[in-house]
Amino acid sequence: MHEVELANRVLNGLRQIAAERKSRVLEVNLKVGEINEPSSIRLWLEKLGGDEFRSTKFKITKVPITIKCVKCEYSGNAKSIDTHLPDPKLGVACPKCGAHDLSITTGQELEIVDVKLEGG
Ligand SMILES: [Zn+2]
Repeated sequence: MHEVELANRVLNGLRQIAAERKSRVLEVNLKVGEINEPSSIRLWLEKLGGDEFRSTKFKITKVPITIKCVKCEYSGNAKSIDTHLPDPKLGVACPKCGAHDLSITTGQELEIVDVKLEGG
């Protein structure tokens, strides 16, 4: 359950920000790569956040997957076919030659871009 772990990481980050600023998080802007399944991350954030984050609005910007193929030197967009593998690279294939021998340029992000706090 990769997404659960990632969602927990975001929630812990938000708890830390809220504690440091002695406030509550009203809104958060997240950048989530397609490999991390943005829609699934959202569901888990809402589920795991429970009452604590009931009033927090999660805004997610999806980052498409781009790769660089080692075999045929293709570089550009790619699709993730299976995100439930231990190594995300195995779930991404080069759209030109089908190889998994590639480096992922974007699509693995999980970032808190900014937050809007209560009273500020
Ligand atoms: Zn290729």
